[in-house]
Formats: sequence, structure tokens, C-alpha cells
Amino acid sequence: MTKKILVCGAGGFIGGAMVKKLKEEGHWVRGVDLKYHEFFDITKVADEFIVGDLRDPLFVSNILFAPNQHGETDQDDSFDEVYQFAADMGGAGFVFTGDHDADIMHNSAMINLNVAEQCVKKSAKKVFYSSSACMYPEYNQMDPDNPKCSEDSAYPAAPDSEYGWEKLFSERLYLAFARNYGLNVRIARYHNIFGPEGTWCGGREKAPAAMCRKVVEAKDGTHIEVWGDGGQTRSFLYIDECIEASRCLMDSDFAGPVNIGSEEMITIQDFAKMAIHISDKNLTIKNIEGPLGVRGRNSDNALIREKLGWDYSQILREGMEKTYKWIKEQVDKTTQHICF
Ligand code: NAD
Repeated sequence: MTKKILVCGAGGFIGGAMVKKLKEEGHWVRGVDLKYHEFFDITKVADEFIVGDLRDPLFVSNILFAPNQHGETDQDDSFDEVYQFAADMGGAGFVFTGDHDADIMHNSAMINLNVAEQCVKKSAKKVFYSSSACMYPEYNQMDPDNPKCSEDSAYPAAPDSEYGWEKLFSERLYLAFARNYGLNVRIARYHNIFGPEGTWCGGREKAPAAMCRKVVEAKDGTHIEVWGDGGQTRSFLYIDECIEASRCLMDSDFAGPVNIGSEEMITIQDFAKMAIHISDKNLTIKNIEGPLGVRGRNSDNALIREKLGWDYSQILREGMEKTYKWIKEQVDKTTQHICF
């Protein structure tokens, strides 16, 4: 059945990939973002793409009117599904320095306050909220070999960043709207999503893209810089699997919150070595001081396996090879482009 779907944050990495997937499935899709997608023409993929600021309550009120069968915005029609990906976010260099804390909390909270309220007012039938593993308490993620990130370990709350606190607040916000106003929500806690068509330079890029870019840009026989001693652990989920799991959650009766991630945990040092190995270059690693986040983190997929029968299937190396290839193409294309 063709659904009418709104994707907030459609100009970003995951939102853009979701728009592509929903269009492949034959749905009618409206995308909304502050900006167009950087790596493909989103206006040719989405049925409608509207540039605007989701912090503005009036704007959010307007975009939540769904179109009728003639494609006209109709005050009586509602969206079958709303995906809320918009956030003021980035990788460790953006989130863990402390320099953007006020904006991260204010901007993302404003977006979620508006979207949750207007979804109720405009009777959106189902809403997906993209939370993050960053909401898990720091005290369970001190041991790099044995981090605990099961969904029931969220409390007592103690995220290590304001980004994580905002995610936790917004999870609770959507759940409160579900309890008090019957909002039909699905909440995913993403664990490091990566792949082509994501931010790869400029300060908001995340570890996989940053690692690939550094390796691509390094001259043979030199070194790349890695923040910290490299002993911190993480897991990374390829974008296609993230979209698949998110669709699966949305189609289920399970509200979450539920982890969407990979359980293939790796140290950042080995992750850097993997990128170097893919490149076939002769490079060494220089560990330097930098913003880090928790010492260890891995997805715990027990709940998603039980509730949705979903699990990750692609090995990290495979996703990294595709990502490396894409980032190399971007670097080659933009010879004038310099990233600091
Ligand atoms: P992204 O930065 O690529 O996309 C977010 C989009 O939101 C951007 O295009 C941005 O322009 C848009 N946006 C920000 N403020 C806005 C505003 N006021 N009005 C309209 N649009 C606005 O990030 P992403 O990697 O695609 O992440 C999508 C969601 O998933 C985010 O909520 C993020 O916190 C969450 N998440 C992502 C990861 C990951 O590894 N990528 C991990 C955990 C959670």
C-alpha cells in the first residue's frame, strides 16, 4: 500500500538514504531539511522537498499537513508515517569538545518539541524517532572489552555528553506524548551508522568517514593521526542495514526504545589499521590527544533479535571498503577541497 510519508532531516545522511528507500518501495514522500542533500539531488528523489527550519513551530505545523490524492496540501489529511532524523549533530570533534553543547541541546530539543506536538495535532499515524547509543550511562562504558548497552541499562541516567542527554530527553518526550495523547511512536537507538553519502569533512564527520579521509589524503610512507590511545572500542553499522532495521521497527508493533547497531566491536586502533589496509598504502598511526567519548561501546542486539527477528549481517570490513571507495572519489573530485 502506498503511504504518505514525511522525512524530517531528509537533507542529511540517514534521512537521505531513507527517502531513497521509501521511494523504491513506492511511497509518496515529502522531505524537509535546513539544506539540500550534499551528495545527490534530493529534489529528484522525493516527491516534495521543502527547505525550512524545524525549530520554527509554524513551519512544523505547515509541513505536517499531508497532501490529498490530487497532491494538494489538505488540512484534513494526515501522514501515515513521520521519520524524525533532524538534529544538530556531528562526530566526536563536534559533540565531545563542549563547544557546541548549548546549540546541540537547544536546537535538537526545539525540533523534537515541535514535531511531537504537531504529530499529535495533525494526527500523524506513526512516528519514528532516531535516538542514539550516546544516551547510555558512562559508568557502564568504562571497560573497553565489556561495555554494557542493553536497553534496560539506561537508568540511572548518566550520558557523557549533552548530545546524549538531549536524546534521552526526547525519547522521554515522545513516550510521554504516546502515553498522554496516544502518539504511535517507534524509537531506535542508533550505534554509529556509516557509509557513502555521509558527511566526510568539515568538522561534523564521524570516525569511519574521518578515518577514510585521513588515509586517502595521506602520502605513502607518512602517518595518520588518531585521537586517543586507540584502545577505545566501538561498533559500526552500515547505512543499508540501518535503513532496513528502521523500516522493520516501523512496520512492527514494538515501540522500543531498541538498539539498532552491529555487535562487531573493534578498537579504534584496529579500525584505523583496517582503513590503511584497504588503501594498500604504507602508513603508520600517530596517536594524539583529542575528544573521545566513552571508553567502550558495543550494540547489544538481544532485544531487536527477540522482538523483530532482525540482526546485522554485513561484516565491518565490507562496509568500510565501500565507504573508503566513495570517500576516495570525493577527495579526487575536489582537489581544491582542503579539510582541517
Ligand atoms: P545528519 O547531520 O547527516 O542529518 C541531520 C539533518 O538534520 C541535517 O541534514 C541537518 O541539516 C538537519 N537539521 C538540523 N537542524 C535542523 C533544523 N533546525 N531544521 C531542519 N533540519 C535540520 O545526521 P545523520 O547521521 O543523518 O543522523 C540522523 C539522526 O540519527 C540524527 O538525529 C542523529 O542524532 C541520529 N543518530 C545518528 C547516528 C549516526 O551514526 N549517524 C548515530 C546515532 C543517532
